[in-house]
Amino acid sequence: MAVFTSCKRLGDMQGVSPPSTVSAMTSKHMKALVFNLRYEAQGVISVELRPAEDGVEFPRVEAGAHIDLHLSNGLIRSYSLTNPGESRRYVIAVLKDKNSRGGSSHIHEQLRIGQTLQISTPRNHFALDETASHSVLVAGGIGITPIYSMLQRLRDLGRSAELIYCARSRAEAAYLESIEALMTSAQGHPPPWR
Ligand SMILES: Cc1cc2nc3c(=O)[nH]c(=O)nc-3n(C[C@H](O)[C@H](O)[C@H](O)COP(=O)(O)OP(=O)(O)OC[C@H]3O[C@@H](n4cnc5c(N)ncnc54)[C@H](O)[C@@H]3O)c2cc1C
Repeated sequence: MAVFTSCKRLGDMQGVSPPSTVSAMTSKHMKALVFNLRYEAQGVISVELRPAEDGVEFPRVEAGAHIDLHLSNGLIRSYSLTNPGESRRYVIAVLKDKNSRGGSSHIHEQLRIGQTLQISTPRNHFALDETASHSVLVAGGIGITPIYSMLQRLRDLGRSAELIYCARSRAEAAYLESIEALMTSAQGHPPPWR
């Protein structure tokens, strides 16, 4: 069954910057402030979370890691972190599921800037092999979130990578512009699309 109507190859990438350190992760809860909400694509918003208490930092984000959001309606849902290397904020992107039983719909309809919520510390069940000489990343739809994180990490490590990103339409493809800019900056010229 064909799920996606378009599939673009985003070309090869060679990064330039030095690596960042990887944090140790334990499974605890933290209080987070909803610092920003942003439209990312049709049906997708990003949520920027910051520590709710002064002087506190989150564990540093690893590419591929996710956190659990403890929503005020009692539901717990997992979301991949999209900003590797950072510890002052976590950024997730959430697709509003048309058949949501209350997780993504709650985030889209009820979550507001200034609210606080409990989140778990990150766990990484999808760790990136940072030693590979070349990485081929494949993402479909909202599955781009951990892949986008990996792409940024590989760019920072100066590794070679290519991305195949499938989406129903460009309008529904989250982070497309950022990825194109990342690819362009990594290569020094526009990516060869095909
Ligand atoms: C590690 C991890 C990372 C994730 N990262 C992201 C991310 O970055 N962005 C993101 O948007 N999502 C991510 N998810 C998915 C996210 O956790 C939620 O599952 C998603 O937001 C849907 O939650 P919901 O409550 O809206 O939908 P739910 O109510 O959980 O429903 C989800 C889907 O399952 C179907 N469904 C419900 N009940 C049944 C049933 N009994 N039988 C069959 N089908 C059923 C529904 O029709 C619906 O289509 C991630 C999940 C994991 C585990």
